[in-house]
Amino acid sequence: MAKKKEEIVEAAKQVAEKAVEKVAAKVEKVVKEATTPIITPEMAKIPAGPLELKWTNYKNHQKLVNPANKRRLDVIVVGTGLAGASAAASLAEMGFNVLNFCIQDSPRRAHSIAAQGGINAAKNYQNDGDSVSRLYYDTIKGGDYRAREANVYRLAEVSNNIIDQCVAQGVPFAREYGGLLDNRSFGGAQVSRTFYAKGQTGQQLLLGAYSALSRQIGKGKVKMYTRYEMLDIVLVADENGEKRARGIIARNLVTGRIERFFAHAVVVGSGGYGNTFFLSTNAMASNGSAAMQMYRHGALFANPCYAQIHPTCIPKHGDFQSKLTLMSESLRNDGRIWVPKKLEDAKRLQAGEIKGRDIPEEDRDYYLERRYPAFGNLVPRDVASRAAKERCDKGYGVNNTGLAVFLDFSDAIQRLGKDVVAQKYGNLFQMYEKIVDENPYENPMMIFPAIHYTMGGIWVDYELQTTVKGLFCIGEANFSDHGANRLGASALMQGLADGYFVLPYTIQNYLSDQIGVPRMSTDLPEFAEAEKAVQDKIDRLMAIQGNRSVDSIHKELGLIMWDFVGMGRTAEGLKEGIKKIDAIKKEFWTNVYIPGEANSLNNELEKALRLADFIEIGRLMAVDALHREESCGGHFREEYQTPEGEALRQDDKFAYVGCWKYMGDDKEPQLIKEPLDYEFTERKTRNYKN
Ligand SMILES: Cc1cc2nc3c(=O)[nH]c(=O)nc-3n(C[C@H](O)[C@H](O)[C@H](O)COP(=O)(O)OP(=O)(O)OC[C@H]3O[C@@H](n4cnc5c(N)ncnc54)[C@H](O)[C@@H]3O)c2cc1C
Repeated sequence: MAKKKEEIVEAAKQVAEKAVEKVAAKVEKVVKEATTPIITPEMAKIPAGPLELKWTNYKNHQKLVNPANKRRLDVIVVGTGLAGASAAASLAEMGFNVLNFCIQDSPRRAHSIAAQGGINAAKNYQNDGDSVSRLYYDTIKGGDYRAREANVYRLAEVSNNIIDQCVAQGVPFAREYGGLLDNRSFGGAQVSRTFYAKGQTGQQLLLGAYSALSRQIGKGKVKMYTRYEMLDIVLVADENGEKRARGIIARNLVTGRIERFFAHAVVVGSGGYGNTFFLSTNAMASNGSAAMQMYRHGALFANPCYAQIHPTCIPKHGDFQSKLTLMSESLRNDGRIWVPKKLEDAKRLQAGEIKGRDIPEEDRDYYLERRYPAFGNLVPRDVASRAAKERCDKGYGVNNTGLAVFLDFSDAIQRLGKDVVAQKYGNLFQMYEKIVDENPYENPMMIFPAIHYTMGGIWVDYELQTTVKGLFCIGEANFSDHGANRLGASALMQGLADGYFVLPYTIQNYLSDQIGVPRMSTDLPEFAEAEKAVQDKIDRLMAIQGNRSVDSIHKELGLIMWDFVGMGRTAEGLKEGIKKIDAIKKEFWTNVYIPGEANSLNNELEKALRLADFIEIGRLMAVDALHREESCGGHFREEYQTPEGEALRQDDKFAYVGCWKYMGDDKEPQLIKEPLDYEFTERKTRNYKN
């Protein structure tokens, strides 16, 4: 009897404890929410006035630097992708002295060169109803209403200038028979506004930016540092004690030497952090380390969980693969996406018994056309990727792993002829055949979603300045303009808008106050300390001499990211993912093996330094994804979906930019919110059905 009583008391105690824990967690959440710092529109420097006039008003009132003073000011630009190269060339052309850095052996080899499909602009050459307002609206809607209105409008506004600039540089955009620039369609738009150069648009645009850059290198206005990797940013306090970005520490990747560089301002255009997932469409050297260096110095990391999964990539084909290949979204102009209607056909495809072309028309499920009649195969990437996953999860996948859908050109070949299809997409077809060893003119291509782009990034205000004075961030590296999902052909637009047309104005507003600041010696203690911290980190890594290669740990991180922080996320999975990432961090810092010497060329050391940061970014992505209890754009929380499986936003709770502040190693970051109180646009549920 006494024992029973004890058991009852114990059970009651446990129930009470659980209830107290629950209430305490709720109270903690409420307190946290009530005390979360807020970024106001004034702090984000968003100009007042009507949407259409904000940028004009800004330009009319910003401070300028006169030519004589420009000659006295130095600017470091990290990156030679479309953002970095366009910024470096423009700033030098204006008269500033530019120091430009990149990892590759030539500025032309930046990841931007891989961009295939095209660049958007609201020229309305097709007379199909396009306008700046429509490009603005499509971009805001495409981003699931999670981008800043003022920035997106400015982007749409300057989009047309980019095309003029690039044509003037000689970029060979595709033209129609009559000589006018041609356009094609990309996802999330019902107009044709994408300018392109076959499947090599990034390459041609980068050659344009590079020629402008080379001119400035030739004139001595840009000093180019290739094969240099920035490993830290140096901040120096001004007379009021405010810390400002005044230089960088970089490693010469050929000699291994660590060097110091001064400038009056630092601009970072270091690209996105998609390689956190190990397998992605990004270039092998793409990394998030520059972003983490900014973050550790007080720049906020905004929306890290917004990562884009591109629907049309060549499926993974083995465990030893280190790179995924994109098949451009432009292929969705003429290619139709489908899987078999019947499960038995899918099984026979998976077993290799039949090919796609063997399945008759009536047994094909063009699921995007079926589900989204208004946009069909041109729905945005997040929608197309999820729809492919849904079909494959149900068993309709078409390759041996069951993780692929068809992208079929048989209709287009019949309608246009093989020659026309080859003219439009020939190099992409060739690339596909080389990798898959199958002729895509004869049998439909196989595609599957893969990590491609990161919408999240370093928080910047309207001037593209981070929360650290004098530190600017441009291109894919910043969080700006795409909200929770980027529309195809809008990254090139944003990178070039930032570099050619926005930063050259806004940076002057900052530099106009710096004209009295003399060049500083890199012997200052701030530079010495930063260099020592970099050297200590390298020494620590080299001393581990464990048993695991950098790639093996990175691959493990990638699998965890894909499984727990990938296309479908849940609270439970994210918590599990964070634990696993913490374990990987421990494994990395105790068991990584880096051969060779630190003071010479050492690829493994380069990769290890980047992986150390990918691990931190992966965790930050998971933390952000866990806190954002809604689905929007590329961030899909399985708990928040409509009965049809569409993303379910929670505008009353999450209509803000989630910014994270670094609070120290091994400490949880602090959330800061920038509310997105829309003044000009009505938020709706995204609809691509009618
Ligand atoms: C296969 C593919 C196809 C694409 N196609 C399109 C398309 O058709 N249209 C579109 O709009 N977008 C497309 N995108 C996206 C687009 O290409 C990128 O978002 C864009 O090019 C990024 O440009 P960026 O200048 O910001 O960065 P990047 O081009 O990534 O350049 C980063 C630069 O920073 C340097 N760097 C990085 N870290 C450091 C460091 N620590 N120290 C020194 N230098 C550093 C690098 O060396 C490089 O020069 C595509 C992407 C991929 C992967």
